[in-house]
Amino acid sequence: MGTDPREMLRRRGLRVTPQRLAVLRTVSDAPHATADVVTETVRSEIGSISIQAVYDALAALTENGLLRRIQPAGSPARYEGRVGDNHHHLICRVCGRMVDVDCAVGDPPCLTAADDFGYEIDEAEVIFWGRCPECTRENGAT
Ligand SMILES: [Zn+2]
Ligand SMILES: [Zn+2]
Ligand SMILES: [Zn+2]
Repeated sequence: MGTDPREMLRRRGLRVTPQRLAVLRTVSDAPHATADVVTETVRSEIGSISIQAVYDALAALTENGLLRRIQPAGSPARYEGRVGDNHHHLICRVCGRMVDVDCAVGDPPCLTAADDFGYEIDEAEVIFWGRCPECTRENGAT
C-alpha cells in the first residue's frame, strides 16, 4: 500500500510541497478538522502559512481524492484522510464532535438509490445529527 504521502501526491500528478505534505499529515492525524484547525497545526509545524495557502492545499488534495470534504449544514467544512469507503458521520449538535460510522464495507448499500435516474452514483453524504453521550449526560435528567 502506498501510504507515503510524497508518493501519494506524485501519483496524482501533484507537486510535492511542504505545505501539501503538512496539510495531508495534519488531516490524517486529526480527522474531521476544519480549515482553521488545520491552519493552526500546520503553522506550529512548518511556521508561517497563509489561510489561503491552506485552503488551496485542501482543495487540491480533495479534488484529487486524497482527502474527503464533509460539509455539515450550518458549520464549516471538515476534512479527513479516510476516502473512498463512503462511510457516514455522526455529529453532536451541542459540542460539534464528529465521528465515523461505517457504511457496509465493500458493498455500500447507500449507493443504491431507489431510483438513480441514470446517474452513476459514487457517494452518498449521510450525516446523523444528535447529541453525543457526554452532552446527553451533562444535560440529562438525572
Ligand atoms: Zn456533544
Ligand atoms: Zn469520517
Ligand atoms: Zn451507508
